[in-house]
Amino acid sequence: MTTIGILGAGQLGKMLAEAAAELGFKTHVFAPDADPVAAAAATHFTQADYEDIKALQKFAASVDVITLEFENVPVAPLKKLATPIYPSPAALEISQHRVREKTLANSLGIETAPFAAVRSPEELRRAMETVGVPGILKTCTLGYDGKGQWKVATPADAPPLPPGDYIYEGFVQFDKEISVIVARGTGGEIQCFEPVENMHRNHILHTTTAPANISAEIAAKAIHTATTLANALEVAGLLAVEMFITRDGHVLMNEMAPRPHNSGHWTLDGCNVSQFEQAIRAVTGMKLIAPKRTAEKVVMTNLIGDEVNHLESWKKPGAHIHMYGKKESRPGRKMGHVTILSPRD
Ligand code: AMP
Repeated sequence: MTTIGILGAGQLGKMLAEAAAELGFKTHVFAPDADPVAAAAATHFTQADYEDIKALQKFAASVDVITLEFENVPVAPLKKLATPIYPSPAALEISQHRVREKTLANSLGIETAPFAAVRSPEELRRAMETVGVPGILKTCTLGYDGKGQWKVATPADAPPLPPGDYIYEGFVQFDKEISVIVARGTGGEIQCFEPVENMHRNHILHTTTAPANISAEIAAKAIHTATTLANALEVAGLLAVEMFITRDGHVLMNEMAPRPHNSGHWTLDGCNVSQFEQAIRAVTGMKLIAPKRTAEKVVMTNLIGDEVNHLESWKKPGAHIHMYGKKESRPGRKMGHVTILSPRD
């Protein structure tokens, strides 16, 4: 194994390529964007559309294994490639679609918000009756950072919807939002990063704190949820699972992503193994490392939009600043992050 192919070329791809290089691998990044941030960190870059089967075949022939930093890659062309893809197209098909992922979770005994699939205004009306109000209407695919989501209390609150798959979810009065990133090797070996606590601002992840301030019992439930899903999907690589904790101690799976996750960036500075290194280990058949936090508390803050213009204020002992090298800052765009470690006494 010498070369790892990576689909997607944003900051997650960049950090994956950097981790691969540190382990002695070459990387080949494939993405439709011109001049993406991961290209500079990779050995090779192909700019082509995810549906361009000829370009995909050439890319696949140049690498030993394919992994991804972006799960919303069309699955049909991937199924035609002979090179192993980790996580598999079958796992992608489920985690790309909110109804499929929640249906899988429920079938495994994992709780979620109550939900119903919606494909028409009539189905929305019925979903609101059965699930209850208020709720959140979401597109089933391609939504992120609160895009494609509407809080609704009556059917009239929904915007005019283009045809497509939607999900209506009951509104959860959660106490905390947490996530767990689990790594699973090609042979089924599992290692979990501990649960972390996530705070959002304007629907975008603002801070992640490790460890999450939750009981040992809830932490065990959250880890069980993430490993159960990773095993069911037979993930090789990473699975990041976002969960709500309710006041009465229920752990509800909200969303999962079969790739490195923003809530795992703290591991670059605050853990003996980063999520990116662990991902590369998992897809190349290397032994996984048992993660151990190296500070009492680790707080990762995203630098979003113009926040990158105030870097000096972050320069303090224990702070690690990571810039992604994006040329232009736009509102809501993740430009970098800062991790602050609080030492053990
Ligand atoms: P998602 O794209 O599903 O991760 O949702 C983005 C954010 O919206 C979540 O991190 C929550 O803060 C909030 N949210 C999503 N679904 C629900 C729900 N069913 N009830 C309450 N808040 C939600």
